[in-house]
Amino acid sequence: MEECTFCKIVKGEIPSFKIYEDEYTLAFPDINPVSEGHTLVIPKRHSENLFEIPAEDLIAVHQATQIVIHAIQNALNPIGVAVVQLNGKGVNQIIMHYHVHLVPRAADGPPLVVSDMGAKQANMDSLKQTADKIAAAIK
Ligand SMILES: [Zn+2]
Repeated sequence: MEECTFCKIVKGEIPSFKIYEDEYTLAFPDINPVSEGHTLVIPKRHSENLFEIPAEDLIAVHQATQIVIHAIQNALNPIGVAVVQLNGKGVNQIIMHYHVHLVPRAADGPPLVVSDMGAKQANMDSLKQTADKIAAAIK
């Protein structure tokens, strides 16, 4: 955790351009933006992912995400904003500190790969079988 890039940003040990801050959260630009205005919202307290983030931080991050999405809309007037949150290296989570991406798409911008998930019509039997399996695992 001492090597965590986002914890260092929270502590000011790595510089960032602050977009929003409150007691629990911080928002700043992604330094590898997918589009203009690509912003990250993080909890100040370290959690690796959705599996472990405390509810208090989770709520605060998503409230901050709503504040920031309004600001992005007002500032940049995109035609849409993808909100993406990755959990685990297997889905390309690179910084292992919970973060929410806000990725706006400008009217004249290219389609966002993050919002094109290649969805296909499901087999209904298979869909029900998987849904039942997940539902049975809810604790
Ligand atoms: Zn961290």
